[in-house]
Formats: sequence, structure tokens, C-alpha cells
Amino acid sequence: MANDADVIIVGAGLAGLVAATELADAGKRVIVVDQEGEQNLGGQAFWSLGGLFLVDTPEQRRLGIKDSHDLALQDWLGTAGFDRDEDHWPRKWAEAYVAFAAGEKRGWLQAMGHRIFPVVGWAERGGYDAMGHGNSVPRFHVSWGTGPGVVEPFERRAREHAKTGRIVFKFRHRVDALDMAGGAATGVSGRILEPSSEPRGVSSSRIETGDFSLKAQAVIVASGGIGGNHDLVRANWPKRLGTPPKHMVSGVPAHVDGRMIGITEAAGARLINRDRMWHYVEGVHNWNPIWPGHGIRILPAPSSMWFDATGKRLPSPLYPGYDTLGQLDYIMKTGYDYSWFILTQSIIKKEFALSGSEQNPDLTGKSWRMTIRRAFNKGAPDPVEAFKAKGADFIVRDNFDDLVAAMNKLSGANLLDATSIKQQIEARDREIDNPYVKDTQVMGIHNARRYIGDKLIRTAKPHKILDPAHGPLIAVKLNILTRKTLGGFETDLDSRVFGNDGNIIPGLYAVGEAAGFGGGGVHGYRSLEGTFLGGCLFSGRNAGRAAAKAVI
Ligand SMILES: Cc1cc2nc3c(=O)[nH]c(=O)nc-3n(C[C@H](O)[C@H](O)[C@H](O)COP(=O)(O)OP(=O)(O)OC[C@H]3O[C@@H](n4cnc5c(N)ncnc54)[C@H](O)[C@@H]3O)c2cc1C
Repeated sequence: MANDADVIIVGAGLAGLVAATELADAGKRVIVVDQEGEQNLGGQAFWSLGGLFLVDTPEQRRLGIKDSHDLALQDWLGTAGFDRDEDHWPRKWAEAYVAFAAGEKRGWLQAMGHRIFPVVGWAERGGYDAMGHGNSVPRFHVSWGTGPGVVEPFERRAREHAKTGRIVFKFRHRVDALDMAGGAATGVSGRILEPSSEPRGVSSSRIETGDFSLKAQAVIVASGGIGGNHDLVRANWPKRLGTPPKHMVSGVPAHVDGRMIGITEAAGARLINRDRMWHYVEGVHNWNPIWPGHGIRILPAPSSMWFDATGKRLPSPLYPGYDTLGQLDYIMKTGYDYSWFILTQSIIKKEFALSGSEQNPDLTGKSWRMTIRRAFNKGAPDPVEAFKAKGADFIVRDNFDDLVAAMNKLSGANLLDATSIKQQIEARDREIDNPYVKDTQVMGIHNARRYIGDKLIRTAKPHKILDPAHGPLIAVKLNILTRKTLGGFETDLDSRVFGNDGNIIPGLYAVGEAAGFGGGGVHGYRSLEGTFLGGCLFSGRNAGRAAAKAVI
């Protein structure tokens, strides 16, 4: 039977689009199938903040940041903690990826029209020693236009190729099986779903209207992770993080359902590091949800005080923005699946950012006029103020005792003792008068403000939390928010998938989140942030280029 295309790609997210455009540029015929409608083109990347891990860039240099490939690799390896036999390919991917981020990545994107917001963010600061977890320097480069700004160049290229028929999109095609012959991938088959006019991100109908079957010389699985399927997240929850949380909010749309991972595994592909995942601990219920259980992550900066469900301050260095999985580990060991920030209006105004393109209309809309207000505005950005006013997890009070009473009411558990929390806050407040201190969180605030980017837009001037001049007081109940799947299909540097017998499966590739962002887990246990979109770009590009050479 004749092939329908040279290559079939499952998933029209960022990784799939990158692979498709590379293949079409090389003159190959590509079919991209996706279970969602055209309105979801770009997948999760559209919703993202567009933060990219880049190393030793002009943006960093302009801000006085001295970064290098060696420093970034040291941070990556300290963060990943590779310690398994299966980490052979992930480690090779990590080395190649850090070289890409310190080399070609910025120029490659720039040539396609991608631009970067000039203030570089400092995510995952670690707080351990030089060889431990975290970014030694700021490296989180937010795309001008956020997530849509990352998708745009690839969408544009793909649509150009679609005009000539080199790329054919088949939306509302849900793959149910990977077709194999003689041990090689030869195509996909599944069901056509009824058309959907739901807006982007809203769950779509699963009513089937027909079957399809497509043949090609190669198949690239670009189907994303499992974060939208809480049952799968719980089933894969690592023992080292205790029992899975009872309550989680979803940081991804429902189409991040993990189904295609099971389907690809059933066809013989080797799935590794499935217990490694990247979920956040600063999730809040979206007051204006788009997808089921929609949660938004607060991108925290260093000043909020963090308390567990029983009112105990999180230990050093588990401060906002330092060590996501360290915090998750600590919180799960408390026996409760939530925690609390306590902060002031002065802190929320400068330090709260919300992850997601729709929560950052200034950057997403590429409006300098709106963006500049971040530095000079009296209030927090409008979306943050909206959460403060309407978010179910936010409490605002002028009086400390009233604040704690409302926290107890919200949790319904009455675990918080106002006197004990006040003692902890007053102790921290006494450390504020000197620029050299014992409290490591306050030290971190001083350290952050030595970086011009943080001083300008991310770290509030040190002040006493209980000083009414900086009020009102704010408490935020923080939930666990599912997001990224760090494990995935084991692949070589060409994104070719290994089978369970240790041999490459001819014709099968995996990219993006489905491949653990490269190799089956380029991050190891933890991420330096901004590394997911980059992993989609790099693995999608490698797959597209390699498959273009492999098919005849
Ligand atoms: C709110 C938010 C903020 C983020 N911020 C950042 C950030 O700042 N920096 C960063 O690096 N990363 C960020 N991320 C993560 C990043 O966006 C994702 O990890 C990445 O976009 C995943 O891309 P992907 O192409 O691998 O998968 P996806 O975008 O999930 O695309 C997969 C596609 O495959 C389709 N599919 C799945 N199964 C099937 C099937 N059986 N048949 C047909 N089609 C199927 C899906 O419908 C989907 O369209 C963020 C994510 C979110 C949601």
C-alpha cells in the first residue's frame, strides 16, 4: 500500500511543529495529526510564559551577569542528579542541550523573528552549594509575546508549507494505535472526533465519527506528557515523595492526557524515568478557569514567608523560587497537601507573577507601555490584583489575628496558631534592620537585590511583614499543581526511540515532553526552568533533521 506521507507526526504542539517544519524544509511530505481542533495549534506552549533557558546571552551581559557553558553545565548536572543506568541517554542529551542553549539556540530563534524581554529572570535559585541544585545566575529569558511568541515562527513556517501541501494537518484525529510491521513503525490508526468549536484550551468532545489509518516511512510521537491526567500522575508518583496528594490543581489542559504514551509503550517503545515529574507547590485555583481544575502557578520571588499547613515556617533553603521539588518533598511529609504564603501588599505588588500567557497580557500583547508599568505601578499587575480580589485561595486583611482566623476558616482544619506564627514573623522582622543578617531568607533577599533585574521588577525592598505601612497583609493557600512529565521514551540524539530489547525501533521517533524533553529525561530529577520549551525545540529539531535524512 502506498504511503500517505513520508513522515506522520502525532501532536501539533511545539515539538511536533518544530519537527514538521524541519522535515518540510528538507522537502519531505508530512502529516500532522492531533486529537484537538485547529484552534489548539501549538498545544501547551501557547499557554506558557515562554521562558527559555539560555546561557551567556547579550541580555545577561547587559545586566552584568557573567554566565558560561561550564557554569550552566555544572548547574544542570547538580540539579539533574543523574544516578541510574537509564540516565545514559538523558545525560548525553543534557550535555548536548546545554551546548545548544549556550550556542545556537538564541541565534536560530532570532533569525525566525523571535525576541526576548530584556530583564532576565532568576528561577530555581537552589540555596545549596556550588555543585548542588539551582541556577547560579539568572537565565530565565521570557519571550517577547510569551508562549505565543515561541509558537509563532513555527506556526508561520508550518502554514507556509501547508499551502503547498508539504504539511497536511489532520485535526480531530485521535491516534489509538501505532501500526508496526516487521518491528518497524509504519503508521498510525485511530478515530476521527466530531468537530469542536470550543475555544482554545477548553475540553472538547470525544464523540467519534469515523476511523482513520495512515501509513508513512516514519512516525514521530510528539503527544506531550501526563499532567492533565491526575490518575496517571498518582499512579506514577514516586515513593520518595510520599503518598500522592489527594487534591491537585491542573496546570495543563485536558488534552495532556498521557494516552499516547501508553499506546506507544504498548507498541514496544521503552519508557524510562516515569517516576520523575515536575509539579509545582505554588498553585492557586483559577477564578476564571479555562480547563478542568485549572490552576495557575505563582512564579514566586524571594520575600514571602512560607508556612506549612500546621503553621511552621519552611526550613532553609526552601524559600519561594529556590527548590521546587525540595518544597514538594517537605510539604508531602507534613501529611497535608497544601501550604501558605504570608506577605504584604508591597511584596505582592513587586514579586507576584503568574505563569501563563493569558495572565501576562502586557508581555503577551508585546506592549512596552503596559510592561513598563511593572516597574512603576502602585498596585500589582491587573491579573494579580484580580486573583487577590476574586481568587478562592487569597485572603487580605488589615489585622494579623483576622488574617490567621480567615486562614483557619479557609482550610477548615483550625491548625494555625496565631501566636506561634506571629512569633516567627516577628523574629524574621527583627533581622530586617541590618543589611548583614543571620536569617538565610533575608540574606537571600539582599543577595537578590544586588542583581539589577530583581531590584527593578522582582524583589521588594526589605521591610517588616508586620509593618502596617506595607499592608494590608495577604495570605495565599498554595496547592500542588501538576505540570511536567520529566521521564519519557528513551531516545538517541537523533530522537530515535529504543525498544525494550535495547535496539532502536526503525521508523519511530519521540520528541518534546513525550520523550522527557530528550533522551527519556534530559532533566534527571529536577529542572532549572525554561528548559521545557527548549527541550521541545531541540528534540523536535533533531528528530526533523534526522528523519529527513532517513526517509527516502
Ligand atoms: C501554563 C504553562 C506555562 C508554561 N511555561 C513554560 C515556560 O515558561 N518555559 C518552559 O520551558 N516551559 C513551560 N511550560 C511547559 C511547556 O509549554 C510544555 O512542556 C511544552 O509546550 C510541551 O510541548 P509538546 O509539544 O511536547 O506537547 P503538547 O504541547 O502537550 O502537545 C501535544 C499534542 O499532542 C496531541 N495528542 C496527544 N495525544 C494524542 C493522540 N493520541 N492522538 C492525536 N493527538 C494527540 C495533543 O492534543 C497536543 O496538541 C508551560 C506549560 C504550561 C501549560
